Amino acid sequence: MALLNLASWVECTEVEGPGRRFALWTQGCPIQCPGCCNPHMFDFKPATLVESDEVFGWILAARDRYGIEGVTFLGGEPMVQAVGLADVARRCQQSGLSVMTFTGYTLEYLRRHPLPGVEELLRHTDVLVDGPFLQDQPDHERNWVGSKNQRFHFLTDRYGPEIIHDPRYRDGVELRVLSNGKVLVVGSPFVIQSIREKMVGGADGESSEG
Ligand code: SF4
Repeated sequence: MALLNLASWVECTEVEGPGRRFALWTQGCPIQCPGCCNPHMFDFKPATLVESDEVFGWILAARDRYGIEGVTFLGGEPMVQAVGLADVARRCQQSGLSVMTFTGYTLEYLRRHPLPGVEELLRHTDVLVDGPFLQDQPDHERNWVGSKNQRFHFLTDRYGPEIIHDPRYRDGVELRVLSNGKVLVVGSPFVIQSIREKMVGGADGESSEG
């Protein structure tokens, strides 16, 4: 069990990886790519502090309620909180759920400079999407990625490269009206950016950029 600092989460989404998924965004990113869709997640400030145990309980409840097939970790930078996420990921896989993890680091960098918990998180990740967001190399062809440099690594045989271009997942975006009246947009970083530019008064967006 370990403490996680979450910027946001949704219990069931169909735009952050294959199938229905529980998605969570960690707070704090040291990479801070220019043009990132989630700049409000850069700061290492307390957001929602919660034990990994409790997060796993939310995920099981989402599985029972929505029939999710897996979880997706985004950021912020998930690898900075790899200890807690590895605990969640391990239990998810043991329960039959798949794990997809986004990181702004490359896999090579992570293997050379493992942050605490990273090796275990990689061991319990089925699909890793790696690399920073490069705004001068936008990628509108592949599902979920923001830029052409980002790569898919299939670390288990749960999924294969066919998901990258599967049209069922193309450019998905979901809008949710929250109880405080704000609009939460989840999904394609390009659609989120364009909605942000058009909306006055604020749309909170969580994207799968990295
Ligand atoms: S794209 Fe990902 S790695 Fe880059 S600043 Fe945003 S959250 Fe961090």
